Amino acid sequence: MKIRSVQAHVLRAKLEAPFAYSRAWYDERWSLIVEITSEDGVSGFGEVYGPARMNAPIVRIYGELLMGRDAGSREAIWEDLYARFRDHGQKGLAVQALSGIDIALWDLAGKTLGKPVHEMMGGPIRRTVPAYATGLYRRHRPDHVAYLREEAAAYAAEGFSAIKLKVGFGFADDVAATRGVRAEIGRDIALMVDANHAYDSVAAIAYGRAVADLDIGWFEEPVPPEDHTGYAAVRAALPMPIAGGECEFTRFGFRDVFTRRLVDIVQPDTCAAGGLTECKKIADMSAAFGIRYIPHCWGTGIAQAAALQLLAVLPSSPPSLHPFEPMLELDRTEHPVRDALSAPIKRDRATVTIPTGPGLGIEIDRKVLARFAAA
Ligand code: CA
Repeated sequence: MKIRSVQAHVLRAKLEAPFAYSRAWYDERWSLIVEITSEDGVSGFGEVYGPARMNAPIVRIYGELLMGRDAGSREAIWEDLYARFRDHGQKGLAVQALSGIDIALWDLAGKTLGKPVHEMMGGPIRRTVPAYATGLYRRHRPDHVAYLREEAAAYAAEGFSAIKLKVGFGFADDVAATRGVRAEIGRDIALMVDANHAYDSVAAIAYGRAVADLDIGWFEEPVPPEDHTGYAAVRAALPMPIAGGECEFTRFGFRDVFTRRLVDIVQPDTCAAGGLTECKKIADMSAAFGIRYIPHCWGTGIAQAAALQLLAVLPSSPPSLHPFEPMLELDRTEHPVRDALSAPIKRDRATVTIPTGPGLGIEIDRKVLARFAAA
């Protein structure tokens, strides 16, 4: 199972309806898909979360270093690539690109051996997982409380029991949106909020206190990821659980998050924090520190399948008759590449089935790689 080629597919799609989170508007979406092919002609796919055009050359340089290596030696490859660029890439792009390589190697190994990744990782511990709806972004419409309420009601009608609202647009705006959505969905559906680190700790605490009576499931990325003292201040001041981690990387980065207990729920992105190999280690560390693990997921079916394979092997914390179960973050925003690249993941209301096919358990439509290829 020697590596014959490593490709970085940069894909781009225009959106019909632009949408915004607290720091930017989206009018197109980019994806970086990694394809690793063995000498037997089997291809494994991975995905990189991050700026596709900046990550693609790093994937290609990693690829040059992997020609002829045993595709099954995932740990050795991870350690070699990380160590080689450690002095320059302990976080960010270098680890994001490494994540896509690692996921593609797992997919390739699973397809070669005819086993799903979760089986190769020693599972499954669970065969289904609850999904929560990520949506409730801002649009080019002035009546944002009204359309957010409509969208939240639609998720409730679809059967979701947990949904996440984007905040970080200013105190009055956020409080109105949060109160409106909570009033719309009632108290039986969990409501989480995500500021995408648009606040400093003073503003985050002011907003958090103003919505403290609304039974907030978690407050995600209240402050910038580097602001560890800000995280500690927010967590000490507010009653709701604090979440974060999509901008943190590797077991070394998360070690500091865990030892300082900066969050109650940690959210590494499998396609950014180091891939399946590294995220399993981060998850084991989170269990040792008693911190809940709910992966961040924002990509195509490859990212979703990678998250699901990991979710299949996360222990319940703590084991009991009614344990806390980890969830899949299900992005409900427009994503033309995701919708075309592979069949939608199997979902019945809020319950998603872990794919059981070989590797990541999904089939990639190769025509889509060409159709959305960025010029
Ligand atoms: Ca987020």
